[in-house]
Amino acid sequence: MQMPLDPATSRCFTRRSFFRYAAGASALASMPILTEAHLALAQRPHFADPNKGIHIDANENPLGPSDAARQAMIDIVPRGGRYLMNFQAELEEIFAKQEGLSPESVRAFAGSSDPLHFTVLANTSKDRPLVVADPGYEAPMWAAKAGGASVIKVPLADPKGAAKHDIKAMLAAASNPGVIYICNPNNPTGTCTPREEIEYAVAHAPKDALLLIDEAYIHLCDQPRSLDFVKEGKNVVVLRTFSKLYGMAGVRMGFAIGRPDLLAKLNYFGDNSLPITALAAAKASLLDTDLVATRKKIIGDVRAENLAWCKSQGYAATPSESNCFMLDTRRPGKEVMAAMAAKDIYIGRIWPAWPTQVRITVGTKQEMEAFQKAFAEVMSGSTAGLTLPKRKMSLRERPFENA
Ligand code: PLP
Repeated sequence: MQMPLDPATSRCFTRRSFFRYAAGASALASMPILTEAHLALAQRPHFADPNKGIHIDANENPLGPSDAARQAMIDIVPRGGRYLMNFQAELEEIFAKQEGLSPESVRAFAGSSDPLHFTVLANTSKDRPLVVADPGYEAPMWAAKAGGASVIKVPLADPKGAAKHDIKAMLAAASNPGVIYICNPNNPTGTCTPREEIEYAVAHAPKDALLLIDEAYIHLCDQPRSLDFVKEGKNVVVLRTFSKLYGMAGVRMGFAIGRPDLLAKLNYFGDNSLPITALAAAKASLLDTDLVATRKKIIGDVRAENLAWCKSQGYAATPSESNCFMLDTRRPGKEVMAAMAAKDIYIGRIWPAWPTQVRITVGTKQEMEAFQKAFAEVMSGSTAGLTLPKRKMSLRERPFENA
């Protein structure tokens, strides 16, 4: 039997150490690891028909896959009886070539959630905490907790202005962090952390700490990318996804990019063959040279129009460069979510550190016009005491009932 790699040493587990690790893991197995999809779904009062109403609550892209990606999926369907594992290597090579990386430093997954969870699980432990920004994307926290590691939340710097990661405070937050997670642009604020501050983090992070730079939304902004740190052999793993700009959240494809020895630590969690439809759609998306610029402009224009509208109505919003922003309702955000849901408009959740703010995903122009109309109506009346109706969760959903 081929034994999995020890996440700490990249060496193969012995049979005995494997079972010891597995026993420890099973003690924690009841702890779910939640993603954007789970967390958004947990807030929805009904889910019988996901096309009913307007969903600007999960940072999805309403444009869906590009035309070329759709055609590529249709074309590959007749070959669906085969694993075609060489398609994965081909996709990794195309991306590596486009970005000037070695193919060994790119690994494709069905979305970026898996490598996000695996990187946190492999590099944090009881004695090696996870450091995150707050408000920030919650998935790494769920993974750290599931693995028995503690989580240190560091408030965003300049919360009423740039709302960026407080890099110096994050570096000082723990003497021996396992992972420092930087989400750029940040979910939920859509704000970016300047390049020089990320460079500072790479240069000054405690030895052995892994910087996990999540670039799920990077295509939507003009900020410098972080792949050069991988080329330079730094202790950095960068995550990319096809779920956002490329509109493939339901199709599922993403990359972990890092030094081969850092990617080898993820082997412990298994290596599954990937859906060939998703591989084909991702390849077509990467080869479509106009796609990033076109979609960045479409989403950016709608975002700018909505940020200006919020300001004109007297509401502060974060200076987002992404497909979401936090909007300060100056009243309990949960009440506003409930009042909007009653109008069939589903807006994003609140973060406990910012209880009056709600996350708005940038939808289509028409969706956002409906949002503006409903929001103005909701805010002109009282929302006191409103709560989201609880829906009966299926067995599958139970683990995230109280998320
Ligand atoms: N990282 C961030 C910051 C996200 O917001 C999300 C999803 O919303 C993900 C990663 C995971 O996306 P996926 O697994 O669809 O690639």
